Amino acid sequence: MELLFRQDAYEKSCDATVVGADEAGIRLDRTVFYPTGGGQPGDTGYLTLADGGRVRIIDTRKGQDHEDVVHLPEPGSGLPIPGAKVTAEIDWDRRHRFMRMHTCLHLLCAVVEGEITGGQVGDGKGRIDFNLPDTRLDKEEIAAAINRIVAEDHPVRPRWITDEELETNPQLVRTMSVKPPMGFGKVRLLEIEDVDLQPCGGTHVRSTGEVGRIQVTKIENKGRQNRLINIAFLE
Ligand SMILES: [Zn+2]
Repeated sequence: MELLFRQDAYEKSCDATVVGADEAGIRLDRTVFYPTGGGQPGDTGYLTLADGGRVRIIDTRKGQDHEDVVHLPEPGSGLPIPGAKVTAEIDWDRRHRFMRMHTCLHLLCAVVEGEITGGQVGDGKGRIDFNLPDTRLDKEEIAAAINRIVAEDHPVRPRWITDEELETNPQLVRTMSVKPPMGFGKVRLLEIEDVDLQPCGGTHVRSTGEVGRIQVTKIENKGRQNRLINIAFLE
């Protein structure tokens, strides 16, 4: 399966051929639908058939391997037959909000130093859980630091490197906030110029300016060490 969102997160639709369909989900030969992963929800949208009929997709999940994407149809939908040509179109406004918030959470990682233990991209809001014992965190300071990077409008781009390139450029790992997974031949990195570099397979906006201004809504203490930093869009 060709995963078009990996190369260009701004592709809203694509032509595709159905390779399998049952109540558990629909598989295509290529797709723009992002499956739930990395704290980001799966896409919703429509598959439109050649006769104009539409199948509502209510969620997208990973299948058996990391190249396998399963489109979940609304219960009771008529299913397309294998070989059918469809146009796959995501709910773009929703996805774009996820792209903005996902990118914003990279900025949060860049301004708060600490081990990350979890996170969630929501619609208009997001959260990262840090392991931060004995640290004083200030909502206003964190928000101001992120909004400064937003205002500076840094370019954001994916960057693929091979395991070998990584091994011959050890300084690259030191600049990364998270160690990349090795052993798959190549690694997809997300680079926010002059701000952050880390392995990530998610969808992002093209520059930090597109994130828009944010606020830190609350910082929750869970246990002695866990600090949950919650963010929401200001506009
Ligand atoms: Zn990411």
